[in-house]
Amino acid sequence: MSSLHFIRFYFVINFCLSLSVAAQEPTLILENARVIIGNGTVLEKGTVVVSGDRILSVTKEPIISSSANRIDASGKTIMPGLIDAHVHLAIPMVEDIDSFNVFISDSLPHVLKEFLRHGITTVRSTGDSWPYIGEVRDQINQGKLEGPRIITSGPVLTYNGGHPATTVCKDNPLCRKLVTRELSSPEEAKSVVKQLAEERVDFIKFVSDSLIYPVSLPNDIEEAVIQQAHKERIHAEAHIAEVSFVERAINNGLDGLVHPPKMPISADTAREIGTLLARHHVPYTTTITGYIFFSSPSKEAFKTEGVRKREEAISRFRQMNDMGAKMLVGTDWFYPLTKVSPNLGPGAMTYTEIEHLVGGGFSEVEVIKAATISSAEALGLVEKIGSLETGKQADILIVDGNPLENIEALKETVYVIKDGKVVFSQL
Ligand SMILES: [Zn+2]
Repeated sequence: MSSLHFIRFYFVINFCLSLSVAAQEPTLILENARVIIGNGTVLEKGTVVVSGDRILSVTKEPIISSSANRIDASGKTIMPGLIDAHVHLAIPMVEDIDSFNVFISDSLPHVLKEFLRHGITTVRSTGDSWPYIGEVRDQINQGKLEGPRIITSGPVLTYNGGHPATTVCKDNPLCRKLVTRELSSPEEAKSVVKQLAEERVDFIKFVSDSLIYPVSLPNDIEEAVIQQAHKERIHAEAHIAEVSFVERAINNGLDGLVHPPKMPISADTAREIGTLLARHHVPYTTTITGYIFFSSPSKEAFKTEGVRKREEAISRFRQMNDMGAKMLVGTDWFYPLTKVSPNLGPGAMTYTEIEHLVGGGFSEVEVIKAATISSAEALGLVEKIGSLETGKQADILIVDGNPLENIEALKETVYVIKDGKVVFSQL
């Protein structure tokens, strides 16, 4: 090595070293609080150290740093940001593209902020206008727009005329065009999945439901969708109503269910489905709030019929989980619900879902797990989010009180941090 080369080499090495040291400097220290790490460990008094957008360490010890910002979280709980595994952020409720563009530029940013304010730092969008939702996802990732991390399927794949083409998008050609891809053959299914993968959807979602609309997805098309998704190295997730179709899709290689099977089902069926889901590592998403809300539209009806339906559905979830099935928290939130009730607002509905699960008999720990680490695993993001472990993205929620004892504490959001940046502060 010539001396010039050596000097260059020396400077490059030194420069790299100083970069890596700089990258390891704490930038934000959250201290004096209970820490739910999210891997099963809880520190009664701990410190979470953030460096840039990552978690540097979680420790019982106080940390000395002159340069880092500090949040004294005494009496509070620090936990991983929540994940809502089933939302729809951008389904056109208007019929012309100009008005829809106004929705995207003027209304959607408020929706995204509401999710953050409620501590939801990641959402899985299971059917939204494409490519619009992909652009929103990218803008958030590039720091140009504030919002939760979005993992999106883009449009929903369905049989010709199937849900949501002729249900949610009924009488709205713009919705039908942007939110659905209607399939009529396995060849078409393959080329649509291939193209969506090229356009960078994060996963594929398809619908197989002959309860909402009397034509379900034929088996050869379903097979083609799942096979092509796997060829593109992305998940195939599904909305499947009938239990028999769940079994068929699992045999075709399905990766996940964005709902439970259509309730009510018997205890025996729940155990059967639970066994299948467990054996094939196929998680399901709860979406129970909509089910009980729409089947008991008045407050009075909820106290009787709604609570009964909730208990019954949750006992079926329990039976599925007892067989080893993995449960994710998801709401099926979409914009029109904002006008129905404050409990169904963006982010607020995620709390409502969590409250229903705890109210129906799940423990706080089980539900928090379902809304954090389980979802991160199911979304293929467990290396990145879902718990407060060294090297993961600093997506952190600080709440007043202890949600492990009283789930209501989740409503007392004090700070929300995403990618190491405070995106909501009540103080
Ligand atoms: Zn949905």
